[in-house]
Amino acid sequence: MGYQSVNPFDGKLLQTFVELSDAQLEAKIATATACFESWKHKSYAERAVIVNKAAAIMHDRADELAHIMTLEMGKRINEARGEVEFSSNILAYYAKNAAKFLAPEELHPVIGDAHMESTPIGVIFGVEPWNFPYYQLARVAGPHLMAGNVLMVKHAGCVPQCAIAFEKIWIEAGGPVGLYTNLLITHEQTETVIDDPRIKGVALTGSVAAGRSIAARAGQNLKPSSMELGGSDAFIVLDDADLDHTVKWAVWGRMYNGGQTCCAAKRFIVVEALADKFLERFKAALGALKAGDPLDEATTLGPLSTEAALVQLLEQVKVAVAHGAKVVLGGKRIDRPGSFMQPTILTDVKPGNPAFRDEFFGPVAMFFRVKNEDEAIALANDSDFGLGGSVFTKDIARGKRVASRVETGMMFINNISWSDAELPFGGIKDSGYGRELGDMGIQEFVNKKLVRYAAVEAPV
Ligand code: NAP
Repeated sequence: MGYQSVNPFDGKLLQTFVELSDAQLEAKIATATACFESWKHKSYAERAVIVNKAAAIMHDRADELAHIMTLEMGKRINEARGEVEFSSNILAYYAKNAAKFLAPEELHPVIGDAHMESTPIGVIFGVEPWNFPYYQLARVAGPHLMAGNVLMVKHAGCVPQCAIAFEKIWIEAGGPVGLYTNLLITHEQTETVIDDPRIKGVALTGSVAAGRSIAARAGQNLKPSSMELGGSDAFIVLDDADLDHTVKWAVWGRMYNGGQTCCAAKRFIVVEALADKFLERFKAALGALKAGDPLDEATTLGPLSTEAALVQLLEQVKVAVAHGAKVVLGGKRIDRPGSFMQPTILTDVKPGNPAFRDEFFGPVAMFFRVKNEDEAIALANDSDFGLGGSVFTKDIARGKRVASRVETGMMFINNISWSDAELPFGGIKDSGYGRELGDMGIQEFVNKKLVRYAAVEAPV
């Protein structure tokens, strides 16, 4: 534990940070609570001024913010800039649409009239991961601040500079003190925050283990929670897929963000007729990626976020092989400074191999050969996870049929353009519950209140 910036490209320690004392944490919770008392009374238009300003700051400072992210967790610089722009767009999207999403909704009872209104509930606590250091924050800040809640966030231990930079944006945007609070706190203090009666909801994005622990704590306190957890998404290739198109998406789907994406394509399930050709081309494309400095725009393979992440991934590959998997590409760390992993393909991963049910959070693809569409769907569904998935076919109606039969929160046909501000994001099973983004994302932490008027006498 602890908050440290270490550059995974060369292993150099950039900065360490001291965690908050319990007294400092208490003061911050008190400030956020006081802030809510005035923020909840602001109109949507007043809130939008600040949220739009934060969006503009992110846009204007995209280079600087991206640079911090690349140094702290190794994201390739072009992807880092894209993430900052996307985060800015998410904030602007909620500034524009919150009033519409949360407008009172007329109901039509048999007697009298009624409506639902959506009111903020208080201080929301977010616990967020390092893999998209700004996007994960924007995904909670945009909707929940526009809804009239205020936010306190514990970010991951390895991205404290990004966490602090995001908090500063809100201060600079003119947000009142306590509107958005970054918390450098321990896991134990996280429990204290969840237990605190002034905290009214808990949003986690992270691993299944963290989800079990934090959802349980929120549950004990009868607080609403949303859980965005891991995934092992299937990438289904049917016999009529366009291979040129499909292999490009396969590479992007597995390798974007160094393979460290919850809804990355992780299980490549290919129908017999195309299996050999797909594997050959996928292998060649992954093998051609060149490791280098993630600050250099020409680099096609960056480091993993931390040395610990690399060590864990190598161990998972070792265990998979010990249980019968075959390595047909890569499998090792790259012989150079920094936390680099060879792009890797595993085949022959059978049920009973821990890899069959695991999430590989890095550049490791599992390849499965199946006889037909039905077998592909059955295998895709044989997973503890249920986040996303994709299907590649020239027949769009067939793609939609297959998408309907795969048990996940999101399915993509002939692409895996996972995330847009206007599209709900989230999963089922061990991938968690609740949705972020879109209209649904802003409904997670509001009181949906019924108000009814009826001119009737009380029954005697
Ligand atoms: P992680 O270890 O669960 O960490 C995520 C956050 O939870 C960090 O801030 C971490 O803090 C905190 N945390 C972990 N255990 C905790 C505990 N017992 N008490 C309090 N806080 C705790 O996840 P990760 O390995 O960094 O991130 C990758 C995982 O996130 C993957 O499984 C990925 O699939 C998932 N993910 C899901 C989504 C989605 O939208 N579904 C998006 C991105 C990532 P520390 O860093 O201080 O430990």
